[in-house]
Amino acid sequence: MAQLIRRGIHQLLQSPSQTGLRHQGVDLISATGEYISGSAILDVLERIQFQLYHPNNRWSSSLPAQEEADDSALSKVRNIGISAHIDSGKTTLTERILFYTGKIHAIHEVRGKDGVGAKMDSMDLEREKGITIQSAATYCKWNDTQINIIDTPGHVDFTIEVERALRVLDGAILVLCSVGGVQSQSITVDRQMRRYDVPRLAFINKLDRAGAEPFRVINQLREKLRLNAAAVQYPIGLEDAHAGVVDLVSMKAVSFTGSSGENVEIKNIPSHLMAKCDEARNSLIEQIADVDDEIGELYLMEEDISESMLREAIRRSTISLDFVPVFMGSAFKNKGVQLLLDGVTNYLPCPTDVKNEAIDLNNNEEKILLPCDANKPLVALAFKLEEGKFGQLTYVRIYSGSLRKGEMITNLSSGKKIKVPRLVRMHSDELEDVQEALAGDIVAMFGVDCSSGDTFTDGTVRYAMTSMNVPDPVMSLAVAPQARDQSANFSKALNRFQKEDPTFQVSQDKESGETIISGMGELHLEIYVERMKREYKVECDVGRPRVNYREAITKRTDFDYLHKKQSGGQGQYGRVVGYIEPLPSGSSEKFVFENAIVGNAIPPNFIPAVQKGFEEVVNAGSLIGHPVEGVKIVLTDGAAHAVDSSEMAFKLAAMYAFRTAYPNANPTILEPVMTVEIIVPSEFQGTVIGDINRRKGVVVSSDQEGDDVTVICHVPLNEMFGYSSSLRSFTQGKGEFSMDYLNHSPLPADALKNLISQSK
Ligand code: GDP
Repeated sequence: MAQLIRRGIHQLLQSPSQTGLRHQGVDLISATGEYISGSAILDVLERIQFQLYHPNNRWSSSLPAQEEADDSALSKVRNIGISAHIDSGKTTLTERILFYTGKIHAIHEVRGKDGVGAKMDSMDLEREKGITIQSAATYCKWNDTQINIIDTPGHVDFTIEVERALRVLDGAILVLCSVGGVQSQSITVDRQMRRYDVPRLAFINKLDRAGAEPFRVINQLREKLRLNAAAVQYPIGLEDAHAGVVDLVSMKAVSFTGSSGENVEIKNIPSHLMAKCDEARNSLIEQIADVDDEIGELYLMEEDISESMLREAIRRSTISLDFVPVFMGSAFKNKGVQLLLDGVTNYLPCPTDVKNEAIDLNNNEEKILLPCDANKPLVALAFKLEEGKFGQLTYVRIYSGSLRKGEMITNLSSGKKIKVPRLVRMHSDELEDVQEALAGDIVAMFGVDCSSGDTFTDGTVRYAMTSMNVPDPVMSLAVAPQARDQSANFSKALNRFQKEDPTFQVSQDKESGETIISGMGELHLEIYVERMKREYKVECDVGRPRVNYREAITKRTDFDYLHKKQSGGQGQYGRVVGYIEPLPSGSSEKFVFENAIVGNAIPPNFIPAVQKGFEEVVNAGSLIGHPVEGVKIVLTDGAAHAVDSSEMAFKLAAMYAFRTAYPNANPTILEPVMTVEIIVPSEFQGTVIGDINRRKGVVVSSDQEGDDVTVICHVPLNEMFGYSSSLRSFTQGKGEFSMDYLNHSPLPADALKNLISQSK
């Protein structure tokens, strides 16, 4: 009982606003035999403004027992990602984590001689390039904590898949090389994590390498990434002499012995390191004192700071994104990984520490806070599909409620109800069946047909985890399999990619019959062409990438068109009268049709055919054959013939009416414009801005941060072909950029003329 009360009080102290415990004044004997008077308890509770009451003469917590159990279970869950610059040792580290957590029984080196390769690299492409393009989720257990490792790609272009992987993380490990330090991709992944408010630990790997300088890397974390970072460990020897680390929180030396570093030996700090470690611990406390009031106060009063106080403060400030604890070691030499795992459980948030928002489809996509509670209705996000040797796996993060095998769930996007056939946890590419998974967890469903990004619920709520508005693709590419016998695999691959990624679309060119793939940029499409080759063994011929222009009208124009044909038998007769006009700028709609006819000049049963005719004709404008968007068509009058009018006649009338009116409506072409964010060392600022101007870009801002400058600009997509290689070449590989769709803007007059003459 006392324990229950203590836990309740403890919970309250952590979140005093939450009324969890109630009592009506009873004295207590604590578990350790101490007498605690009711008034003493009241005293404490009053101080934290807590109300007591006592139902049925029993001490009780107002939370049902089930909920308490869930709560404590959730505190033992971590959903983390591991991110790094290529070659920092992310794969090696992941492999070691799986080994120490007992998920694999032997260590295989990355691209090892045994040809097995590290477990996480389940795709050939990744194995070959050493980069990770897809995310997989792997489950392991460290002590009593479940850790789901979501594999996040670290390369420059980020597709919607990467964004989703980042969304489902609660925390992350940023792996850095002790020699290479903060490199271009470290900056990219750090920025992505910042964007998604992901608390992170840093792990400085490769302390065994010649030239290892962990404290230089920590300075870079502070200066280049502006992180409030400090070491929570001190190295015992570097390079060849690297033997372990000192834990600066407990002030103990830790070494790792045994053939795979599996024995963790804790000893006193060697005397020659004592002064250095004291200094490093002080520096850690100083850094925490800056952001944590409790430690700040003790630090000012020059009071002792206990191990547990320091640990709790590190946890608090890591979760609040005010601090980044830095771990170190050598994954390859099996040093330090177990302490990093302790760090994950001690310092990274559990699912209830993190706020998640959903959008309420019943309420205009308003954002709502989704408490991580297994007793609430189910809301789960399918963040990743994987076609494995067992069939289709759908990885889901459960944000609220629970998911049970055999239960009916609803897919919000399609409205379909499905029965959960099988639930599994994934260990890289091996399956483990589970019966149920609760809010906060990440599992995979087996054999469910859905798209990545779909939200599943129990059918009682319409909370979606991602917006239903998918941006239109901005670039297209004609692709065709080189060999005829590959066409089955080619279609299979395209189907799969479309399911995974709603920003990737496939269509057929009406005139040439070519297959056109469309997506969010050059690299985005290249990745799929590459995946087609690696995963589906289909070599493709690829056309020149083209940006997706749109056509638009700029002024209101009337139409009055009579379609009439008399050629024996039944004739055709349909007249449509009205006007076309541009929709107001910023309108989210592409096409609006309004029937403003008063009376029955056109019989109502023909109106849908008129609308259909307009809808079809706007799909290909007559300037360069691209869709006409942002147009409103208003039908004000018309005429019909008792015998000769038909749906076909009215549809054709509408199409001809539009074609005749279009040239008078001052049509123009809109091109996709991108927001481009470029980060380069400041010495390249001038070159980068000069180049952006040449590419007809407009610089929006240019901010100095440490040694780097971040330039944000708006550039027509058409001018961004090959930008990654040219940026690389003129910044000696030190620059990086990211690109997001901004809008479609009118082409300048000369470009307009050129484009129209080219397409004739
Ligand atoms: P990733 O690209 O970040 O996944 O890096 P990998 O895990 O593939 O490692 C890249 C290379 O660095 C491989 O040759 C590894 O053997 C090596 N490596 C990884 N960790 C360490 C380490 O702690 N020390 C040393 N010396 N090499 C390492």
